[in-house]
Amino acid sequence: MQALYPGSFDPLTLGHLDVIERGANLFQGLTVAVLRNPSKNPCFSVEQRLEQIRQATSHLSNVQVAAFDGLTVDFAQRCGAGVILRGLRALSDFEYELQIAHTNKSLAPQLETLFLATATTHSFLSSSVVKEVARFGGSVGHMVPTGVAEDLARLFNQSSP
Ligand code: ADP
Repeated sequence: MQALYPGSFDPLTLGHLDVIERGANLFQGLTVAVLRNPSKNPCFSVEQRLEQIRQATSHLSNVQVAAFDGLTVDFAQRCGAGVILRGLRALSDFEYELQIAHTNKSLAPQLETLFLATATTHSFLSSSVVKEVARFGGSVGHMVPTGVAEDLARLFNQSSP
């Protein structure tokens, strides 16, 4: 079975990467899909985010990376995915994730949403926390893949990640 892992990934964190690696073990193929979301004001362009994810997942032969807009369920169908994969960190994620899962189920009953509980070491990680730390010169090397740390350093004009 094919699965789709949709998200903003602005930028990719080690928490996302953990979900991707475990998803790649569970499914025949996994498409990581960056949502082109006009209502969010991202730090990284969709093309930069695709490149960050491609670099960080180059060791996973059954992982593909794509961008999409419109409904996630429509894109899942176009990818041939039977499962939408999402990550759960804390109770705070639950309500939002459940709402999306129920909405998607009402739109496409044949699609299942599967949640992976975050690795405890990554449970505090979010893209926004990473950006906040990097913006003020803190070290993010333990939070994101190397390429992303370099991109963040460049973005916020620091000499090293
Ligand atoms: P979105 O804007 O769709 O929430 P994100 O890039 O923030 O996109 O997150 C994509 C998915 O990855 C969501 O299901 C989110 O709960 C999950 N996720 C984010 N950070 C982590 C983490 N540290 N560990 C596990 N899952 C995570």
